[in-house]
Amino acid sequence: MFSRHLLPAVLLFSMIPLMSAQTNSSAADTVAVRLMGPDGKPGPVVESPRVVKTDAEWEKQLGPAAYRVLRAKGTEAPFCGNLLDNHKTGVYFCAGCDLPLFSSGSKFHSGTGWPSFYEPFAKENITEIRDSSHGMIRTEILCTRCGGHLGHVFEDGPPPTGLRYCLNSVSLIFRDEAEVKKMGAETARQ
Ligand SMILES: [Zn+2]
Repeated sequence: MFSRHLLPAVLLFSMIPLMSAQTNSSAADTVAVRLMGPDGKPGPVVESPRVVKTDAEWEKQLGPAAYRVLRAKGTEAPFCGNLLDNHKTGVYFCAGCDLPLFSSGSKFHSGTGWPSFYEPFAKENITEIRDSSHGMIRTEILCTRCGGHLGHVFEDGPPPTGLRYCLNSVSLIFRDEAEVKKMGAETARQ
């Protein structure tokens, strides 16, 4: 008699964690990021599908050098990256998923040997996590949409932010002003 009354309540409560777990996993399929607007500047915050691939798919897409950095958290040797001395005007996109990550306007000469920026294209597009590897406490930066390792951010950058986003060239794809304008025009037509 007692257990017959209790059973529906037990069933109901035992289902609640299942229901909330389902809600969480579907919410995690998208991320809030800013895409590039038709003018080449950050657009409004939108929900974009998270880019998820297997290790084999990433390796095939990226090639060994970019795979080692983006997916295995490697670091390229200083003064070797092809974007270190790039002074052209344009936008730097994620080599993994093409999300805009940095603008040429915030690039500065840090002397470290890695491309450096004082602010991201949009703060939503970069995810920061604490990194205690190699006996140091650092802040690792990831692409918000594909989770690719980009580099680290340090608090010794120039004004106006005082931040130094230290990047690996292979994590980025650069498009100059003309290419950005062309992409913007295509976005506006959609
Ligand atoms: Zn990405």
